[in-house]
Amino acid sequence: MSNALVIDRIQSSLTRLRLPRMGEILERVITTAEEQGKSYLSFLDELLEEEVACKEQRRVETSLKISGLPFIKSIDEFDFTFQPKLDRQKVMSLLDLTFIREKGNVIFLGPPGVGKTHLAVSLALKACQAGMSIYFTTMEDLIGKLKKDHDAGRRGRGRSYHKSALVIVDEVGYTPIGREECNLFFRFIANRYEKASTVITSNKAFSDWTELFHDPVIVTAFLDRLLHHSVVINIRGNSYRLRGKVGEEGVEMSQI
Ligand code: ADP
Ligand code: MG
Repeated sequence: MSNALVIDRIQSSLTRLRLPRMGEILERVITTAEEQGKSYLSFLDELLEEEVACKEQRRVETSLKISGLPFIKSIDEFDFTFQPKLDRQKVMSLLDLTFIREKGNVIFLGPPGVGKTHLAVSLALKACQAGMSIYFTTMEDLIGKLKKDHDAGRRGRGRSYHKSALVIVDEVGYTPIGREECNLFFRFIANRYEKASTVITSNKAFSDWTELFHDPVIVTAFLDRLLHHSVVINIRGNSYRLRGKVGEEGVEMSQI
């Protein structure tokens, strides 16, 4: 059988086996292997490595697309010099993802624009690249979904916002919520407690959460679960969005 026929047959086998990257690079890899006298082993190794890398990239891209992340920014894009009071070491140590393996939580607190969402997104990105399931939502959105499930009599356990290894609940406390909604949110956190990780961002100090949750008993129970295995990162600084617009020294948001 001629080489061309064999290549055709290999190509159709690769298509059937869903190994498209190997099909794309096959002829090039054969040519260089012949030119450089590569061994069968390194030839096959190169082909398989490329296919694995391509599939891995596709997996990350697809997961990121369906994760609900509002933007994709890594920790490398975060300028720590802009936030000198932020404990860089503490943030960087989260990036090893131990907190997810240990089912712990992270809470980013601070005024608008200090980078809470950016830091939460960078954790999600890292987790996704490490093969963990991620889901991003705002508290308002999440409560809407929990309510829908509740009203339809569904437990909704199969949903990404319950079963992902890392769920980010952004903007907790931005919008006031009713008592029934509070209970749903409390139950959501209680269900994830010690089973999976949750990252929360909020512009409200914990002391203001009683008002948000109406009932001091609920807020105590809520914070008890949430804070038990958690890292709290309080960002006291200026809004990155307002940089350069508020004079050289910047303005502490608390002064506005
Ligand atoms: P927050 O969630 O605290 O309101 P964001 O994380 O949404 O703030 O930040 C607002 C914008 O500014 C985003 O585009 C974010 O990427 C950017 N940003 C915030 N802080 C920094 C920083 N220290 N370095 C680089 N970009 C930042
Ligand atoms: Mg935000």
